[in-house]
Amino acid sequence: MITATRYHDICAGHRVAGHENKCAHIHGHNYRFHFTVTAKELDDLGRVMDFSVIKAKLCDWLEDNYDHKFLMWKKDPLLEGMKKLVPDDIVVTPFNPTAENIAKHLVEIIAPKQLKGTNCQLIRCVIDETRKCSATYEV
Ligand SMILES: [Zn+2]
Repeated sequence: MITATRYHDICAGHRVAGHENKCAHIHGHNYRFHFTVTAKELDDLGRVMDFSVIKAKLCDWLEDNYDHKFLMWKKDPLLEGMKKLVPDDIVVTPFNPTAENIAKHLVEIIAPKQLKGTNCQLIRCVIDETRKCSATYEV
């Protein structure tokens, strides 16, 4: 299999509702997202997908939707209070916003919409929360 990978960095806040420890607190990360795409066949120039297209379709989506926002689970008991305080800063997610769940959401829900009309598929998303810790979702 041939793949093409590009990474992108954003800053975002979150908390993990129900976490046993520090991650239950409101905090943020300098996230690094690694996107790996594949295609059934290479294009005429020999590419899976031009790297600039990965940026336009996936990295720019992060810029527009998650960068400098606060990700909160729709079932987070603090959600309503936060929405009153900073309504423009909150991104409500259908999942508790762990790196694992964000990666799965990007691969299963966001990428198919963003890559529609191309012959490419996002098959792997790695999210670094810190330099030491990352989560991977791949199909
Ligand atoms: Zn965190």
